[in-house]
Amino acid sequence: MTCKLWNQGNFLQNIKVLKSGTGNIIPAKRPSEDVPHTWYYPYPDCLAFYCKTELWRHMQEECQLKTKTKKSEEESVLTESRELLLTECLADKRLANLYAPMKGDHILNVVKNDLLINQFASCVIDKQGQGRQDRYIRQRVCELCQVMSFMQKQLDNQHLQLATLIKTKRI
Ligand SMILES: [Zn+2]
Repeated sequence: MTCKLWNQGNFLQNIKVLKSGTGNIIPAKRPSEDVPHTWYYPYPDCLAFYCKTELWRHMQEECQLKTKTKKSEEESVLTESRELLLTECLADKRLANLYAPMKGDHILNVVKNDLLINQFASCVIDKQGQGRQDRYIRQRVCELCQVMSFMQKQLDNQHLQLATLIKTKRI
């Protein structure tokens, strides 16, 4: 039986893992192959974590707590899931809504932790307000995240942040 309280406990633990980049995700269902922890997303209604390839199936067939109809689009479920995850990870909650449509696990992985990138986005929202400029801000943030994701791989440091990269004069 699905127990939301049980899921909630795991959800908080999983958010901790995603924020710190250390530890193991506790999924509701483990995929047959090993997948990176950035592939796990919470299903919004029951808070259980699934590999992104299983999330859709969970909604269609299994979830006992779902509020959505079968007509919900796969991408809209993922967007909602990303927003939920980002709301937990980011200090500025406006950013969760702004970033939710951004695709790419590596981008999400950078953006949920990078303080400078988020300060930049918060500043632009403060100045321009939210709404009209969202697409533009998302594009800029995506570009920064691409660079960061590349540099993290190059330097073999998944915790590398933009501010550190600038300080060490690597760019
Ligand atoms: Zn569920």
